[in-house]
Amino acid sequence: MRTEAGLEAVFVKAVAFAAEKHRNQRRKDADASPYINHPIALANVLANEAGVRDVAVLCAAILHDTIEDTETTAVELDEAFGAHITSIVLEVTDDKSLEKHVRKQHQIDHAPHSSPEAKLVKLADKICNLRDILASPPSDWSIERKVAYFDWAEQVVSGLRGTHTGLEAVFDSLRARHVEFV
Ligand code: NDP
Ligand code: ZN
Repeated sequence: MRTEAGLEAVFVKAVAFAAEKHRNQRRKDADASPYINHPIALANVLANEAGVRDVAVLCAAILHDTIEDTETTAVELDEAFGAHITSIVLEVTDDKSLEKHVRKQHQIDHAPHSSPEAKLVKLADKICNLRDILASPPSDWSIERKVAYFDWAEQVVSGLRGTHTGLEAVFDSLRARHVEFV
């Protein structure tokens, strides 16, 4: 990090940065919610459900989709937030040049080898996406597609277990709700 900003200031800077990068993007729910709601939801889960106080993890949660889904580069993140936060974001970034089924398998394969910080962000991401699918799913998704997503998320999370008991329990209780689809 090139600034001497306090930890709270760094977090607010990450929120402002992500909000600007995602400003024209929407989630896939019927209301097309603002995209930034999703990264904020991850940080909220980590801070207020998991008790995470590591600002690097909270900033990485806020920034987790900037490289994957906007034109943000790793160099840009490095200059603004330093190497540590950037490396966590890179760990949770899919390579979009790969076919979707290959990316999905990569997430399963790489989960167990991720850093503890990246595992926390991944767990929160899967929790938030299951919550979205339960409460405000993509409008054109069939029951089968929702169930397939839940099954895939479970495969990723099985490689993240041992990271945070509380978050894993939250994930498991959401996963159990797939019965609500049928
Ligand atoms: P996608 O990857 O296309 O969509 C899911 C992703 O969209 C999430 O991981 C999340 O990513 C983002 N997202 C944005 N808005 C929402 C929202 N409201 N609720 C949930 N997620 C949201 O889905 P998949 O390809 O994974 O499809 C699910 C399963 O369905 C697959 O496992 C596949 O087997 C099956 N399937 C897929 C088809 C396809 O065309 N891909 C067709 C038929 C079945 P982020 O957190 O990064 O924003
Ligand atoms: Zn996400």
